[in-house]
Amino acid sequence: MSKSLMIVDDSATMRKIIMRTVRMSGLEFERTEEAGNGAEAIEKLKTAPVDLVLCDVNMPEMSGLEMVKKIRTELKICEGTKIIMVSTESSQELIDGVIADGANGFITKPFTPEKFQEKLTPFMN
Ligand SMILES: [Mg+2]
Repeated sequence: MSKSLMIVDDSATMRKIIMRTVRMSGLEFERTEEAGNGAEAIEKLKTAPVDLVLCDVNMPEMSGLEMVKKIRTELKICEGTKIIMVSTESSQELIDGVIADGANGFITKPFTPEKFQEKLTPFMN
């Protein structure tokens, strides 16, 4: 089944690196989108929801943590969307908190294509 992906990160370079790592992982997406912060992501998702979001934690305007809360409480159109956080921050408290708020997974940097494959494959069906 064809899937869609959105990469949310305030660094354009990091978005490119993540996109390249996704490709190297062998996972294929029919449609890919990008956003520079949570607010921009939500605006795009309102009209064009995706299957999977890879989301940074620290971003200006709206952080990944705020974004997850807002999507899970206000964006019914995204109820089928899986959100995987990607961050250098790896405290258990942060991970548990964002999972409790509705994120579906957490990938810590540095990441590899193998790690992406392992963490994203369960959501590709
Ligand atoms: Mg950032």
